[in-house]
Amino acid sequence: MAKPDHMEDKDAAEEGKEKSLDFIRTVIAQDNETGKHAGRVATRFPPEPNGYLHIGHAKSICLNFGIAREQEKGTCNLRFDDTNPAKEDVEYVDSIMEDVRWMGFKWDELHYASDYFERLYEFAVELIKARKAYVCDLSPEEVRAYRGTLKEPGKNSPYRDRSPEENLDLFTRMRAGEFADGSRVLRAKIDMAAPNLILRDPTLYRIRRAHHHRTGDAWLIYPMYDFTHCLSDSLEGITHSICTLEFENNRALYDWVLDNVSAPCHPQQLEFARLNLTYTVLSKRKLIQLVENGLVNGWDDPRMPTISGLRRRGYSAGAVRNFCEKIGVAKRASTVDMALLEFCVREDLNETAPRVMGVLNPLKVVITNYPEGESEELDCPLHPTDPSVGGRALPFSGELYIEQEDFMEDPPKKFFRLSPGKEVRLRYAYFITCTDVIKDENGQVTELRCTYDPATKGGDAPDGRKVKATLHWVSAPHACTAEVRLYEHLFTVENPNDVEEGKEFTDYINPNSLQILRDCKVEPLLANAAPGYQCQFERMGYFCVDSVNPETGTVVFNRTVTLRDQWTKIQKTQPAPKSQPKQDNKPKKNKGN
Ligand code: ATP
Ligand code: MG
Repeated sequence: MAKPDHMEDKDAAEEGKEKSLDFIRTVIAQDNETGKHAGRVATRFPPEPNGYLHIGHAKSICLNFGIAREQEKGTCNLRFDDTNPAKEDVEYVDSIMEDVRWMGFKWDELHYASDYFERLYEFAVELIKARKAYVCDLSPEEVRAYRGTLKEPGKNSPYRDRSPEENLDLFTRMRAGEFADGSRVLRAKIDMAAPNLILRDPTLYRIRRAHHHRTGDAWLIYPMYDFTHCLSDSLEGITHSICTLEFENNRALYDWVLDNVSAPCHPQQLEFARLNLTYTVLSKRKLIQLVENGLVNGWDDPRMPTISGLRRRGYSAGAVRNFCEKIGVAKRASTVDMALLEFCVREDLNETAPRVMGVLNPLKVVITNYPEGESEELDCPLHPTDPSVGGRALPFSGELYIEQEDFMEDPPKKFFRLSPGKEVRLRYAYFITCTDVIKDENGQVTELRCTYDPATKGGDAPDGRKVKATLHWVSAPHACTAEVRLYEHLFTVENPNDVEEGKEFTDYINPNSLQILRDCKVEPLLANAAPGYQCQFERMGYFCVDSVNPETGTVVFNRTVTLRDQWTKIQKTQPAPKSQPKQDNKPKKNKGN
């Protein structure tokens, strides 16, 4: 399969120069020119191990690892931001590593913020000694009340002027476990009147008796995100610390901490807009809720926007990377249409997926003039344009299945498929004409009787007569029964984050998001298809094998995506699509410079 070009090291780097650069790559190019970091470019991907990664993280992964790969002296670390012991778990750590690898990237170094706890403690002591941090005994409510508002300055804590000696003594005893959880915190001494509220003496450490998945019970105090993140970046020699826009205000604190301790270097924080996608949610808190309340079948449920869900659904890493490249990187918040993601997976599978036949809702067809008990093998390609995908011998016989929806007894004018007296083509096989309709006592059609024209073998009539429809089918005696799972959007509304008053995002879950069909008929080639196998069921979409029922041997397929392309349509009707696939390429001066 062809890799997206940014995945191919040198050539892509050359090609990349031709392409317009996004604002982050522009900053990096400028830094390379001025020799700011001696040509070094070091990024990191810093997930908190409190959930599985989603497609939004994929955007960040492609950005951080992608930049490193494009640069001659580029590196990218994977760092677990594990400072909140209560919510973290090794299951998440393992899944995150698996997902990053699956995305096709390799980290240069693997780190855990918790490995820096001792170093961070020493930096905190430095601040205390320099009268830049103090132990505060206010309750969380009091801290809030003292903070002030956007319009009003805050009030100094009565503990703000404790001496370095007293602070050091208290901080040491906080660590030693002398005080109750929440009774004291260590705060930075910055400015209670700062217009940026984040600078109003932010908390740096809190007391928390919680078991940590790596440090166990060694620590009773835990550093806050804002203190940990910048110092971890600095300890790793990160040059460009890329994060999402909600941290824009935190940049002032990021810089303050690094300017006020003996940090080895001062990385530059750059913020980009996070990815939002229609018809889904991309917040770990909400995704956890879906999993824990059993509203989906786990983190890798194929309806989930998680990387593991997309993988199980049949998305390739290439398709996800391609999507990330198409949406680009910008500072303006936007919502990308799910149709674009589907477009990318379709584009990818179109190249490679074998075309086979599977009937989802079977209707029996008996060919009355076909020699009874006999069958034949039709030699068919597996791909319309790529002969390297191979071919197969497709069995045909006098008993077939076609799709129920391909027959109407009493069709409206524009229905060109099968109906009494009508002739249609069976893909790769023959023309057939419907002669009789068999029904059960309830009037339900149970079987069709048809005749075939042996002269039309291969799908063309020697007399030149035309038919208006080509149907997919499988030979009944040769068919395998399969289970097929069809998916729709997980939510019924474009933006489930924006809910009506009194409603919850979970109120908008699509009741039809999963439909299970247990009596599908697929061609015999698929009898031994293993999990992960991908194919197109002609006319029905792209599918992949989810699993094989160990008891019955039944193969279970997920529909990855239908064949209906809504994205091209959306693009045609909207001159400026919401997802802004192309970036504005004017080099911007970054505020953080
Ligand atoms: P969530 O809001 O889903 O809990 P998070 O930001 O708390 O996400 P982290 O584990 O801290 O999750 O994220 C790791 C990295 O991925 C961060 O740099 C974060 O900015 C980035 N990231 C998270 N969500 C998105 C998104 N939707 N689009 C782009 N980047 C994202
Ligand atoms: Mg986060």
